[in-house]
Amino acid sequence: MNPSAKKLVYHFSEGDKDQKDLLGGKGANLAEMTRLGLPVPPGFTITTEACRHYLEQGREPDQLRVQVTMALRRLEDEVGRRLGDSTDPLLVSVRSGARYSMPGMMETVLNVGLNDRSVLGLVKASGDERFAWDSYRRLIQMFGKTVLGVDGEAFASALDAAKARKGVETDVELEATDLQALVEEFKQIIVSHTGEEFPQEPRRQLDLATRSVFDSWNTDRARLYRRRERIPHDLGTAVNVCTMVFGNLGATSGTGVCFTRDPATGKPGVYGDYLANAQGEDVVSGIRNTLSLDDFAELDPDSYKQLTSIMRRLETHYRDLCDIEFTVERGKLWMLQTRVGKRTAAAAFRIATQLVDEHLITLDEALERVTGAQLAQLMFPQFDADAERTLLTKGMAASPGAAVGRVVFDSATAVKWQARGERVLLVRKETNPEDLEGMIAATGILTSRGGKTSHAAVVARGMGKTAVCGAESLEVDAAGLVATAGGVTVKEGDVLSIDGSTGEVFVGELAVVPSPVVLYLEEGLDVALAKVDEGTADVVRAVDRLLTHADGVRRLRVRANADTGADADRARRMGAEGIGLCRTEHMFLGERRPLIERVVLADTAEEREAALAELVTPQTEDFVELLTAMDGLPTTIRLLDPPLHEFLPDRAELMVKVAVAKERGEENADDERLLAAVERLHESNPMLGLRGVRLGLTVPGLFALQVRAVAQAAARRVKAGGDPRPEIMVPLVGSVMELHLIRDEADAILAEVRESEGVDLHIPIGTMVELPRAALTAYRVAEAADFFSFGTNDLTQTTWGFSRDDVEAAFFAAYLDKGVFTVSPFESLDVDGVGRLVDIATREGRATRPGLKVGICGEHGGDPESIHFFHRTDVDYVSCSPFRVPVARLEAGRAVLGQPEAHASDDDEIEKG
Ligand code: ADP
Ligand code: MG
Ligand code: MG
Repeated sequence: MNPSAKKLVYHFSEGDKDQKDLLGGKGANLAEMTRLGLPVPPGFTITTEACRHYLEQGREPDQLRVQVTMALRRLEDEVGRRLGDSTDPLLVSVRSGARYSMPGMMETVLNVGLNDRSVLGLVKASGDERFAWDSYRRLIQMFGKTVLGVDGEAFASALDAAKARKGVETDVELEATDLQALVEEFKQIIVSHTGEEFPQEPRRQLDLATRSVFDSWNTDRARLYRRRERIPHDLGTAVNVCTMVFGNLGATSGTGVCFTRDPATGKPGVYGDYLANAQGEDVVSGIRNTLSLDDFAELDPDSYKQLTSIMRRLETHYRDLCDIEFTVERGKLWMLQTRVGKRTAAAAFRIATQLVDEHLITLDEALERVTGAQLAQLMFPQFDADAERTLLTKGMAASPGAAVGRVVFDSATAVKWQARGERVLLVRKETNPEDLEGMIAATGILTSRGGKTSHAAVVARGMGKTAVCGAESLEVDAAGLVATAGGVTVKEGDVLSIDGSTGEVFVGELAVVPSPVVLYLEEGLDVALAKVDEGTADVVRAVDRLLTHADGVRRLRVRANADTGADADRARRMGAEGIGLCRTEHMFLGERRPLIERVVLADTAEEREAALAELVTPQTEDFVELLTAMDGLPTTIRLLDPPLHEFLPDRAELMVKVAVAKERGEENADDERLLAAVERLHESNPMLGLRGVRLGLTVPGLFALQVRAVAQAAARRVKAGGDPRPEIMVPLVGSVMELHLIRDEADAILAEVRESEGVDLHIPIGTMVELPRAALTAYRVAEAADFFSFGTNDLTQTTWGFSRDDVEAAFFAAYLDKGVFTVSPFESLDVDGVGRLVDIATREGRATRPGLKVGICGEHGGDPESIHFFHRTDVDYVSCSPFRVPVARLEAGRAVLGQPEAHASDDDEIEKG
């Protein structure tokens, strides 16, 4: 071989588990098992690089032919048989295996190498005529369907006809002669569908199968799956060529799958299924009932013993739960596949800590093995595990939670039923912006089309609403007001239960139980442990250990966004180390609303001041409550942010009222004045209008009132022996001048309160960075700011120039679909754009003011991927909703370990096959 030629083919003995990029997941692990000396049927892997070359150039790399020949000859020499030989043929399977396991890729072709002559060799070598002809029939069928693209129905109906002719029910009752006849018929089917003969030449079979694995990378289904799971399109797949072993050679043969621990619950101890006298996918296809591993132990104690010792070996080696495919051929055990197994969230936490206790991994490693997304799943209310359930269908777990409701098929009905107090489940083929109101009204959303980036999924996640999307087996007939799945009909008004964490849809109402993990967070470990069963207790203990460990290693502090004392209490219980954002809007609503109306309407300064003065006392009370709840912890209070007209009556209503009064000759001067003010304050784009600091600078005394209330509350707390740590935050600053002006006013008030109350108050004043201009001039803004806090929601809106309420439902799904985003920038920080601003502002702000404290107070503060970015950017803390605080604590710990957020496809459903 030309020594400079690229190596495109690796014998199983040549690679290892870390070469998944090159050998695919299956190939890398087959290589690893071979290296460990486990009984793997020999074979070789054609690299993903060969596939990429083929996909880019439209033909195989020149060297591939030669390298395959060399690998094949080496294999033949090793096993002492030749591919498709007419006396004792070597047969191989041709399997696909990409970096990530991907349904939708090509099916495996088994028994490659059989032809009209070698089938006779197989008869002799195996001494089993029926087996040989059945193998050949399977090859033609699989090859015809997956490689030559013949409709599988053609073979299936020929098979059915053969059974009917013989008057039998199952394939196994067909005899050698029947199968031999079927082989002829299958070959005819291929000729009539493709105009060509079934390829007899073994090497040609191998090459065609290989090429078709390459091609399968780009099938619609595979592309769709990658888009849904955010897997890059340019990875390509590897091809594994593996010596056939046969589980269908009678009672002493069989095939099975097993796990080294239970991937559903995380319970210690092996777990698996075995099927005697069966090949390959017979186990998963459920044609016969499988045996448990215990039954297998009785049936074939020697193989069982060997299998369990291999399981232990693999676990020791991978130091994690492994999932395994194996086959027994006439009493000899063969390993066909292994990988680090997928698992549920609960199992992930349990298994990680079990492995720590078994001294197989460190606590750091355990922390790397669980994710914030998994913790979040465990925090949602769940369906009662003991409840009887009838599965209707299954879709994508699009937005977590457990929702029960009566089925409606359109948005209007959802709104109507919800208004009369019903819990409704909106069931649609797919949703679009017109369904928004219905989605808001529903407790959960179920669609039959679309995946994790569909409109329904994006909007549901944005609203924190449970959703299952793309339940493909569900036929939705919205006009007929029915949906069907697996023969079950669901009518409007029927009750369904959907699990947004697993994608399962159940018939009827399932009991929902609060999450034991939340119980633990809220009431402490001992209380929680006393209330749950042993398995659940194990999960709770595991969460506690890993969360505690994360707290120990993380650098990022975690605060919560909380507006009231009650929210603050909950945030503290969830482990918040302060409040990163207290919004003060609610302090102007309800009974206090008329006061703010008077502020806005005041004709004279005295009138306005009088109204403001009345607001000081209640606001002071609010702040006292908050500072009491957060005693000893930093509490960032944001001055009033939204447009003023939000506190005034609705413009349209008021116009009608005034017009009607005029008509009747009953003019009311107050209403007219109010209307004039509302008109004056009306804005076409309030998000970009008179709000935040702009309001503070144009409505005299407004911010001063709030600053005074904060200062007085702090003074009261100090006098009561407390340790208040308020921080005042000015929103929507774009220029340092704005901040200087507010600061001057605030400093004067603080001095005044210090003086009059006789307490030493130190209250930092900082700004929220939520405009690109503030970020780009951070070196100036920092002159006047004691701290920065990034309002990443608004910063995302202002950087992209769109308003979330308007765009998310309108076109985000299309953007995700077209690949403009891979994830909504409101869900996960747009690192390239918004993230760059965060980075610039942090660095340049600190250049002006060394040690400047920097925080994040957008929803991104609770998003795993964003948290890793904030950690790298040297931000001091993140702040998120109280419920996300534990997730943020965990991910901040993982960020230190440099562990990227697990890939989307790694945490989907458990595959037991
Ligand atoms: P998948 O990725 O869908 O699991 P596989 O390549 O693992 O596909 O193969 C499908 C089935 O065929 C599995 O049950 C596997 O164990 C079986 N199989 C694959 N290669 C061989 C072989 N060389 N001998 C026997 N069975 C095989
Ligand atoms: Mg498959
Ligand atoms: Mg497999």
